[in-house]
Amino acid sequence: MSSSKPLVIVGSIVQDCVSYTDRFPKPGESVRGNDFKMGSGGKGANQGVQAAKLGALVTMIGRVGNDMFGDANISNLKKAGVNVEFIEKSETAPTSVACITVDNKGENSIVVTLGANLELNVERVKELEDVIAGAAMVMCQFEVNEETNYAAFEIAHSHNVTTFYNAAPGKPGMDKEILKFTDILCTNENETEFLIGRQLSSIEDFKEASRELLQYGPKTIVCTLGAKGVLVTDKESIEHVEVPRVKAIDTTGAGDSFCGSLTYLITKYPNKSIAELSRIASKIASMSVQKHGTQSSYPSIAEVRDNEI
Ligand code: ATP
Repeated sequence: MSSSKPLVIVGSIVQDCVSYTDRFPKPGESVRGNDFKMGSGGKGANQGVQAAKLGALVTMIGRVGNDMFGDANISNLKKAGVNVEFIEKSETAPTSVACITVDNKGENSIVVTLGANLELNVERVKELEDVIAGAAMVMCQFEVNEETNYAAFEIAHSHNVTTFYNAAPGKPGMDKEILKFTDILCTNENETEFLIGRQLSSIEDFKEASRELLQYGPKTIVCTLGAKGVLVTDKESIEHVEVPRVKAIDTTGAGDSFCGSLTYLITKYPNKSIAELSRIASKIASMSVQKHGTQSSYPSIAEVRDNEI
């Protein structure tokens, strides 16, 4: 990083349990899986691991249960080089678990039980004001409480620390209050629809929605459209960044690879445009969809260089 300050992530840590199957079961139906894998996940942890794999200094503020999944996830983050000093263990809630199903087209469907992540509260974030104030950037996702994210960004904002909000996973009627403290908002297609409150279909619709979202406070809106590219919108312009054509095997966590890469790149190259850096982040994320798994599919800086990105 050009800055010796860390990227601070206030976010989720989740144990992933992934079943691979030919097709998704219908309600009430049981289908056979072809394979099963466990791994460390959670949007916060995923994004932290991707950034750390590229060389970022990452500090994670999070919460797990006092159980074997909690221990496994902390040691996984440590192994990736993430500072785990501010991850607490709960005695009252389990480590969060995500049951992920991936079909033979590489599509996924996910049930997440958030467990200890929901105990990461405003009080804890306020206790860690100095950590947030000393960050190069603070990033949040939507797998911990909205009030917690809001408090983290309010503190970051009061110390002039840049904030990056990945409003994922989205839900109808998402609160837009946090956007007033958000510098960079990153959403996928669904999340853009949830925030804007209507269905969007064409690229023009997403451009219009991005312009509207600027009115809530962010300086930049980064909207990822899967294989269709990335829209980067600010007050002056809107750029449609292309994504490399690749054979996608498993897109689980591609958005996290993108966000982790983009935040790392923004802190490393503060003078480059977010559109230019989004082009690089999308190349990195497109490498991740060509492998099974989430964090294990994220490329390291050496692999990124080998691919001449
Ligand atoms: P997920 O929820 O699966 O983690 P997402 O819906 O948040 O992902 P997407 O917009 O699907 O996010 O993808 C994020 C980035 O990953 C894209 O901008 C692109 O760089 C890469 N990506 C995703 N799908 C593909 C694909 N089929 N081909 C190439 N790149 C892809």
